[in-house]
Amino acid sequence: LDARKHAGGLVGAYLRDRDIEDLMVAPLKGERSTLGIIMIGNRIGDVTTFDGEDLRLFETLAYNASVSLENGQLDKTLRNLTELKDELRHRAYHDPLTGLGNRTLFIEQVEAAVGERASDAEIAVMFLDLDDFKTINDSLGHEAGDELLQTVAGRVRNSLRPNDVPARLGGDEFAILLHELDDPRVAVDVAERIKLAMKSPFRLGDDEVFVHASVGIAMSSAETASASELLRNADVAMYDAKSKVKGGYAMFEPGMAEAAIERLNLKAELARAVDSGEFDVSYQPVLDLRSGAIVGAEALLRWSHPERGTVAPAEFLELAEDTGLIVPIGSGVLRQACREISLLRKETRLPLTLGVNLSLHQLRNQVLVSDVAESLQLSGLPAQALVLEIAESDIMMDPDATIETLDRLKALGVQLAIDDFGTGYSSLSYLHRFPIDTIKVARTFVRRLAEGGDDAVLARAVIELAHTMGLAVVAEGVEVGSVLQQLKELGCEYGQGYHLAGVLPLEELRNLFLPGPDGNRNVVPFPA
Ligand code: C2E
Ligand code: CA
Ligand code: CA
Repeated sequence: LDARKHAGGLVGAYLRDRDIEDLMVAPLKGERSTLGIIMIGNRIGDVTTFDGEDLRLFETLAYNASVSLENGQLDKTLRNLTELKDELRHRAYHDPLTGLGNRTLFIEQVEAAVGERASDAEIAVMFLDLDDFKTINDSLGHEAGDELLQTVAGRVRNSLRPNDVPARLGGDEFAILLHELDDPRVAVDVAERIKLAMKSPFRLGDDEVFVHASVGIAMSSAETASASELLRNADVAMYDAKSKVKGGYAMFEPGMAEAAIERLNLKAELARAVDSGEFDVSYQPVLDLRSGAIVGAEALLRWSHPERGTVAPAEFLELAEDTGLIVPIGSGVLRQACREISLLRKETRLPLTLGVNLSLHQLRNQVLVSDVAESLQLSGLPAQALVLEIAESDIMMDPDATIETLDRLKALGVQLAIDDFGTGYSSLSYLHRFPIDTIKVARTFVRRLAEGGDDAVLARAVIELAHTMGLAVVAEGVEVGSVLQQLKELGCEYGQGYHLAGVLPLEELRNLFLPGPDGNRNVVPFPA
């Protein structure tokens, strides 16, 4: 019963007198007549209203009560009633999936802690949010998602001291209340322990996945007077941590709030930009280092923002990943780049290749394989001309599932490249498990060639090992002539970088192939 709907009449007056908002009523049926009624009310301001499950429990109780009454066992009924009350109370305050306290309980506990706080002992509120939960939930299913949340809850609980209070706020958000800290470093220690606890892979059915959690910490102080402020600050710090590195933590500082607002704005604009077609593709030529010819180009996403101007991927990619918007944006890049480079191949009669970057979210999304097939078909670009680039760190996130996807992509006839090689933690021999054709050596690594010394030796070793494994090597970020010279000597086949060619709009890329003033092409064509 919704008490407000029965505002008039006797029942209404009765409920109003007792401040009751929701009410469950059941008749107590005896063999021959109705013995009475039993009701449970929820006062205005209490936490939750009743749901179907509560109603079923209540019905069972009413039935038991009738039987007991007929048999004269009223004491048993009263005991049941008390148990039901406790059960309902527990439910109102706990998350059924993980058994942790829920948002309602957590907020009450923070309020109580703020209220009782002794002036010399601080309290801390920590917010924890999983970085890749949505992708896992989408790709492995909700059951796996639930299992993951339970394991996370366990790992969080085990990282705490006995008096610390963990809770699940909802979705993949957790929170922790730390009492009586004499030193803020204690909160940092807890964050470190959680970070460590999240490091080992999560086993979900047959899959093993890696999951990071971002943690925000807010300490009470003379200025942060209220519980709600403390909660908000922890949330802001969590967003700050998330926007920096995956799996990190951050301590709230004034000024972070503005950054968080900026992030929210960007998020809204990103969603709008997808619809209004503000994304475009530019191209960076890939050169054959032996002949100096352009053999292909890498498609690089650009956002032409009406007020901000051109926004580089570094500024919005992570947000696009978190929101899942990278999936429609990525399909757009694939389609446009395939179409444009297919045309350019026809115009120039050169067997140019096209590199397209894939993000983790795309890799885990079911539509990727059909998206690639469709882009190839619509554009007429031969499959072997398309090189899909996957960052080394992404390929390592969920190796088994990734291999499966890569095999399906490979079956379409496309080439696969490991991007930013040298920045992850994998060894080349491990990568041998993946069906790849090319490694792109990260620019931080290539740059070391210019510095000489041990670093240069390592960079050389990587190139040589790749060759022994039968992989082609593209050196990224070739910025100076001396590096180019060394790469040539090492037998590195391909290169990209500002020293060779910048990132160009399609028109400028096309101009590179037009005849120059002397009638020759600006670029020596790659022998077909
Ligand atoms: P990436 O795949 O490693 O792309 C190369 C990046 O290095 C580009 O940055 C390019 O502008 C820059 N670069 C090229 N030559 C040099 C050089 O000589 N020196 C230096 N310092 N940098 C150079 P950009 O365009 O800002 O892209 C950044 C990253 O964003 C890319 O790194 C790639 O991981 C990602 N990205 C770009 N476009 C897409 C896309 O369409 N989809 C996805 N998922 N990711 C993309
Ligand atoms: Ca790339
Ligand atoms: Ca790269």
